[in-house]
Amino acid sequence: MIIAERKPLEDIKQMIAQYKKILLVGCGTCVTVCWAGGEKEVGILASQLRLAFRRDGGELETLEATVERQCEKEMVEELKDKIQQVEAVLSLGCGAGVQTIADRFEETPVYPALNTKFVGMPEREGLWIENCGACGDCFLDRTGGICPIVRCAKGLLNGPCGGTNKGKCEVDPEKDCAWTLIYRRLEKQGRLDLMRKYYPPRNFQAVVRPGKIEAQRV
Ligand code: SF4
Ligand code: SF4
Repeated sequence: MIIAERKPLEDIKQMIAQYKKILLVGCGTCVTVCWAGGEKEVGILASQLRLAFRRDGGELETLEATVERQCEKEMVEELKDKIQQVEAVLSLGCGAGVQTIADRFEETPVYPALNTKFVGMPEREGLWIENCGACGDCFLDRTGGICPIVRCAKGLLNGPCGGTNKGKCEVDPEKDCAWTLIYRRLEKQGRLDLMRKYYPPRNFQAVVRPGKIEAQRV
């Protein structure tokens, strides 16, 4: 899932300082799960902004909406009536959500209330860990399902480096060495032969930006 976190209130307030009426739009998928941009967070941010404007002697009127998936054109269509009533939109979606609304409603300024951070997974309640960098050429079949591109501080394809120490990473001793994790996982699976293989440098042409995939329905 996409992990994001809210920008500081003061930054958001400055972004929308010129407006008197805005629509805050949440997304019901990833950013709801990571507590950054769901219906609840939309309500909280709307109240905080109204209070902050009032404290400064101004007034802000807010409308609120949360769509199921902000990164889908069809789903942001339902915002049409509300967007016609406001001067600007404040999106609590990930960067894809912000851009989907901005593309569909080109005449309305759309502002990001979140910083989109990474693709990751929940480790425990309230903690999310990056585990995929969307590199375009997945390597997990050779590493027991642990990504060295993102989880090794050096992104090594052939690890571990000489700095691994008691299972921890030399770059950040708070973190597990990804290649030690990979070794242990492969050991459990009886696949340590994979550790002895040399993997040549990656073809970074696999990562074409902007990415585009045209899938065929089966
Ligand atoms: S190798 Fe890592 S970064 Fe690349 S697609 Fe697989 S999990 Fe994601
Ligand atoms: S100690 Fe492990 S995780 Fe850290 S840079 Fe070296 S191989 Fe990568």
